[in-house]
Amino acid sequence: MSTEIQSWLLSIEPFEGESLSHFLGRFRRQNHLSPSALGDLAGVGAVIARWERFHFNPFPSDAELAAVAEVVGVTLDRLRQMLAPEGVKMKCEPIRLCAACYQEEPYHRLEWQYQSTGGCDRHQLRLLSKCRNCQAKFPIPALWEDGCCDRCRLHFGEMTKWQKSY
Ligand SMILES: [Zn+2]
Ligand SMILES: [Zn+2]
Repeated sequence: MSTEIQSWLLSIEPFEGESLSHFLGRFRRQNHLSPSALGDLAGVGAVIARWERFHFNPFPSDAELAAVAEVVGVTLDRLRQMLAPEGVKMKCEPIRLCAACYQEEPYHRLEWQYQSTGGCDRHQLRLLSKCRNCQAKFPIPALWEDGCCDRCRLHFGEMTKWQKSY
């Protein structure tokens, strides 16, 4: 079964530190799959949409992760790296952004959603938790296709001007 699945699915390379939500969104768009269609292919039911919102309660089982890893074409270990390590608390809201990081490499970093993360160590900047241009919340990373605010269309990479030093 898995060989048949993988023969028509296009796999993508995960980025360093990319969140599962962002990765799954890219994979689904590449293959024109809805969250439920991906869940059906992997045989895991309706969990994909929840994972894309960082809702990990109940936490994904090894069997679920292995099934999804096989469909998306990465190893189980690599897929696990897109989830917070055990004991690290995640915030599912608000979705946060270091615009300076995004400008360098346009993807959502998992560690931006850690409760313990107050800012970006790389840029010494605080994270943004909404668009300061129009006050809209950021969409879930699975939907970051255009890399801009849903409402005012300002590009995420242009939002560094609102990041305070950290
Ligand atoms: Zn940064
Ligand atoms: Zn906006």
